Amino acid sequence: MPELPEVETLCRQLNAILPGKEILNVEILDPRLGKMEALAGRRVAAVTRRGKFIEIDLDGGLKAVLHLRMTGRLLWQGDGASLPPYSRLVVSFPRGRLVLIDPRRFAIFCVRPEKVPGALIQNPLEGLPARRLREIARTRRLPVKSFLMDQRLIAGIGNIYACEILHEAAVDPRRPAGSLSPAEWRRVERAAAVVLPRAVECRGTTVSDWRDLFGVSGTNQDHLEVYSREAEPCSRCGGRIERAKMGGRGTWFCPACQK
Ligand SMILES: [Zn+2]
Repeated sequence: MPELPEVETLCRQLNAILPGKEILNVEILDPRLGKMEALAGRRVAAVTRRGKFIEIDLDGGLKAVLHLRMTGRLLWQGDGASLPPYSRLVVSFPRGRLVLIDPRRFAIFCVRPEKVPGALIQNPLEGLPARRLREIARTRRLPVKSFLMDQRLIAGIGNIYACEILHEAAVDPRRPAGSLSPAEWRRVERAAAVVLPRAVECRGTTVSDWRDLFGVSGTNQDHLEVYSREAEPCSRCGGRIERAKMGGRGTWFCPACQK
């Protein structure tokens, strides 16, 4: 599932291509995406991100909003390329087209949505301020890892980056969120400021099917310290990385140095 750094990667790449370009045609290949207003003839003004929503601003005040959900991805193709399997939507431009590929069909694409749901912390790439985290977590008993992944609280952090941030911060993912000290929240803040921007620099983490806008794998998997590395030695203390199950998801951590 694409997390914040992956969606940010797509937004940056889309922003390098689309602004100023005119939409020639929108072809909906999957009726589940629903009907939408005619977009042909509209020009793209900018592409922005809100949480994990990709917002394409069009002239005339229209906005197309896309969320990749579980298995969605975007691919930019030159003229003459053939459509890959599971293509659901094609937006054609004078030179090239944008294709939404989605095997499990949960992705959404709509024009001028009523309301995009927001989180308390909308953009963790601008920082996860320790004081704000502590304030939100104060009365919450859920484990700190589930706290970081709760999309109503913080937008865009999923399993990979929650595991990596907590390892970098040396905090045990099973600890109740409300039990962290101010110093520990400061470590979480600093860890997020290392882990998330690096993942964007690396164009995301490819452990299964993530590809960027041009079909190229990210490289952040080379920087993973704990995710999917059970039984390997911890880079910080040499302890053995363990895997636990939390909320149905695999959780990797080093019990020797994450307290
Ligand atoms: Zn360790």
